[in-house]
Amino acid sequence: MTASYKEPLIQVRGLEKVFRIKGGMLEKKQNLRAVRGVSFDIMPQETFGLVGESGCGKSTTGRLILQLLRPTGGEVLMEGKNLASMKGRALKEQRAKMQMVFQDPYASFDPRQNIYSAVSEPMVIYGLAKTKRERREKVAQLLADVGLNPDAMEKCPHEFSGGQRQRIGIARALALHPQFMVLDEPVSALDVSIQAQVINLLLEMKSQYGLTYLFISHDLSVIKYICDRVAVMYLGEIIEMADKETLFAQPLHPYSQALLAAAPKIGEQRTGEVLTGEVPSPIRPPKGCAFHPRCPHARECCKQVPPVQKLPDGRLIACWLYA
Ligand code: SF4
Repeated sequence: MTASYKEPLIQVRGLEKVFRIKGGMLEKKQNLRAVRGVSFDIMPQETFGLVGESGCGKSTTGRLILQLLRPTGGEVLMEGKNLASMKGRALKEQRAKMQMVFQDPYASFDPRQNIYSAVSEPMVIYGLAKTKRERREKVAQLLADVGLNPDAMEKCPHEFSGGQRQRIGIARALALHPQFMVLDEPVSALDVSIQAQVINLLLEMKSQYGLTYLFISHDLSVIKYICDRVAVMYLGEIIEMADKETLFAQPLHPYSQALLAAAPKIGEQRTGEVLTGEVPSPIRPPKGCAFHPRCPHARECCKQVPPVQKLPDGRLIACWLYA
């Protein structure tokens, strides 16, 4: 399933995001470093997974790539073009090639808008399918592609189940024929019985439309099923990145090991170190290796930031155990 193209579709280089926040116990504004020096490539028609506990910066990374949030540092290139340097029409055209599917599609729909309006709205904005008849035909086709009856276009979002609403969210994301989609926890809010249907739909759409995915999830079983390569994030940083088979066969970073050990497996005892303690605050991340307060292998050198190493099996890892 791994793509064999030479040029990456998406290149992420040293991406940084700092939020200035105030509130709660904070007396004055503080810096929250949500994303710290994140770099990776995504090859055409690849599914690249970002996994980690909630608050590790994976959703912020997805939004930064789509330019829904402005990076504080680093850059994102699509087809070799730096998105931050694009403006006006060029940026609008590039953005049409990049879409997002959200965890809760209901929140992204106007509850008074029927499905025809919701799915055809991007076509109107981008001047595709100029007549209403063309748009109705296109919406009917998109709904059929995602397994819904074209009659659905006359209904409103509240008339559908969670799984059907996610299908509609996918149809809307496909309306502009994008090349790249960020799928942000697209099945986390669905019943387990529906999750597999939506994941299989995403795989079908990927092959039918020739899509490239960034798949964001905290659920390792979903990541293992759908992704080609995986990056594990902790406190805004990538701490291990490898192809799926390598990572799941033998995770090497103590955090990846703990995440996999904690993931439920049907009929198996949990093995390995169990993750204890809370994720530290990104306002005051630990010095050195950010995982050291929770790491069972922490040692003196872990007070220094570990370098990112490339191992002979091709994986990247940031841990002094392998430096
Ligand atoms: Fe643990 Fe040290 Fe590796 Fe960090 S660098 S994961 S603290 S062993």
